[in-house]
Amino acid sequence: TATLYVVATPIGNVTDIGLRALHVLALADAIACEDTRNTAQLMGRFGLSKPLVAAHMHNEREAGEAIVRRLQAGERIALVSDAGTPAVSDPGAKIVDAVRAAGLRVVPLPGASAAVTALSASGLVNDQFHFVGFLPSKAKQRETALTALRTATATLVFYEAPHRIVECAQALLEVFGPARQVVFARELTKLFEEIHRCPLADAPAWLAADAHREKGEYVVLLEGAMEQTDAQEADAERILKILLAECS
Ligand code: SAM
Repeated sequence: TATLYVVATPIGNVTDIGLRALHVLALADAIACEDTRNTAQLMGRFGLSKPLVAAHMHNEREAGEAIVRRLQAGERIALVSDAGTPAVSDPGAKIVDAVRAAGLRVVPLPGASAAVTALSASGLVNDQFHFVGFLPSKAKQRETALTALRTATATLVFYEAPHRIVECAQALLEVFGPARQVVFARELTKLFEEIHRCPLADAPAWLAADAHREKGEYVVLLEGAMEQTDAQEADAERILKILLAECS
């Protein structure tokens, strides 16, 4: 029956693809994908070949309409992105929205997501995390976005492009101070995977220690702020009152 399958694909190591994902890619009438070359290559690795429909950031709305028409004609379509889970800092959400709005079936196939993969190996508190995704590339906007997160107690999860990783670490250091723990999860599931945890104070030196560290894909995790207990807040208020009285 007409169904949109939202299929997670590997974030590096191709053997991380799920058996069910392979089954769905094999039975689909067409694959909606971000970059047709990339998806053709992945399919080729498993001896699969299917009609590919480009559904990227710049044509998501029209692609959504075209996919709805194909589903209404009874087709089964698999939606993938270049890597990981579609619609998470990736195209896909508008397509899923259009398909759901048309009253058609959407079935997710879970698999790799860089954010959750990094969290699982970080050792940081994982019961609460705040997925930030990509920060704004302009310094001022990035600082505003980070400042708004200063008191968040959940672990913060960022995606960052390699050419901005040094700037990003510097901005984190400036806004959150030297003591917070940061985890750089680089090239996850790939040959040169590195997962490095250190206080923010040591981050610039770690990044500078190896020229390769300005290349590759990164998830950056930041320890959340310490929870302020009511007692600590009351203490701070009491001390502030004493200080203010001394000043007047
Ligand atoms: N939808 C994808 C997911 O759920 O994993 C994320 C797509 S987003 C366009 C790509 C970003 O994810 C990269 O810039 C990087 O921050 C992160 N990423 C993807 N693959 C990665 C990997 N193998 N190692 C570390 N980070 C990765």
